[in-house]
Amino acid sequence: MTVTTRFAPSPTGTLHVGNLRTALHNWMFARAHGGRFLLRIDDTDRARSEERHVESIRADLAWLGLVPDGEGRQSARFDRYEARFAELVAAGRAYPAYETAQELDLKRKVLLGRGLPPVYDRAALALSDAERAAFEAEGRAPHWRFRLDHDLPIEWDDLVRGPQRFEPKTMSDPVIRRADGSWLYLFPSVVDDIDMAITHVVRGEDHVSNTATQLQMFAALGSNPPAFAHEALLVGNEGKLSKRLGSLGVDHFRQSGIEPQALVALLARIGTSDPVEPHVDPAPLIAGFDFARFGRAPARFDEAELAQLNARIVHQLGFDAVAQRLPDGVTSEAWEAIRPNLASIAEAADWWRVVEGPIEPADLSPEDRPFLAQAAETAAQIDWSADPWHALTGALKGATGRKGKALFLPLRLALTGREHGPDMARLLPLIGRDAALARLQAAR
Ligand code: GLU
Repeated sequence: MTVTTRFAPSPTGTLHVGNLRTALHNWMFARAHGGRFLLRIDDTDRARSEERHVESIRADLAWLGLVPDGEGRQSARFDRYEARFAELVAAGRAYPAYETAQELDLKRKVLLGRGLPPVYDRAALALSDAERAAFEAEGRAPHWRFRLDHDLPIEWDDLVRGPQRFEPKTMSDPVIRRADGSWLYLFPSVVDDIDMAITHVVRGEDHVSNTATQLQMFAALGSNPPAFAHEALLVGNEGKLSKRLGSLGVDHFRQSGIEPQALVALLARIGTSDPVEPHVDPAPLIAGFDFARFGRAPARFDEAELAQLNARIVHQLGFDAVAQRLPDGVTSEAWEAIRPNLASIAEAADWWRVVEGPIEPADLSPEDRPFLAQAAETAAQIDWSADPWHALTGALKGATGRKGKALFLPLRLALTGREHGPDMARLLPLIGRDAALARLQAAR
């Protein structure tokens, strides 16, 4: 058995961070087991599905490094659903129902008013041929429900939630097809999971009750069901399901300077008992991936945590990995000098401006000016070929008795215009003798 997972988004919008997490876990689980990860475009809703969203889904997965081993789409498979649906009808497992939305709503309200669960009463199942014909004659087209088998207990051992049990009698027969002939997602998904030989369905816990009905559909179609992992949902930092999470997607992260590795490292681990760690290479994340380590409490997504993780990822990225995104002229030495001070790669441009100049003159105190005049003279005499920063500060320390902050800060301010920044020993050779002398002279 080849482990096969699928990520099954509906192309009705862009992927949000919760979707990205589901995709990631499907990919990781497949990779951890030498299996296959498939992308399935759930576009049965033709009115709401758009090609531009299909493209952005593919691009978002590519950005994260999640390359599918295959892609399918539901709109190409309507014939297949039709054929399998005909089997259900022939076996009496799908039946036509004629209630209007208002009638169904009324039934629900009556039950709720009596304190009863709003389970569909199966009135349509009791219709005679003549009654059905009468509805059809009125011009009413039926929608179709899947008939749950009330005698077949619904049980599965969920990879995240543990043993699950549903009593089919307490559930409504789900509508699988609308009166206009279009499909709801439930049934096509089962047909696809069978045909694509899906072994593990990994999705959010909002699908748990869908799974209960889908398990009976697998049985009705004569197939063994896949294993299921229903993950606790993602919540914002405040611990609530936030609207904001629903709108955070790859565009936002890219614009905020987040690297895909940071998002992968975070989404791989939040909600699990493993610590969030700045892995640039997903291999260790994949190797340790195990649904048994997922908790049932919602996973907290914290943008501040992501930003911190991102900085730790950036600090590890090699020059070759980032060269194309750096300003012209930045060398591998420069990248290594600047890198430890970056929260994002884009910030490299700020430090590169400091290296190349011109810099904004800093606020220097009057008592530092004679010291900087002396620094300018010293800088003209030292050997610039080896380690000019230590040569300069060593000579000035001996000559002036200054040390620590009193020695270093005025130099840093004069040479970079800033109080903080990358290691001066690395930065000064990049600034170079001429520019350094000019900056010190300007500051004295
Ligand atoms: N298209 C469904 C959704 O977006 C897929 C759920 C599933 O993974 O089966 O929720």
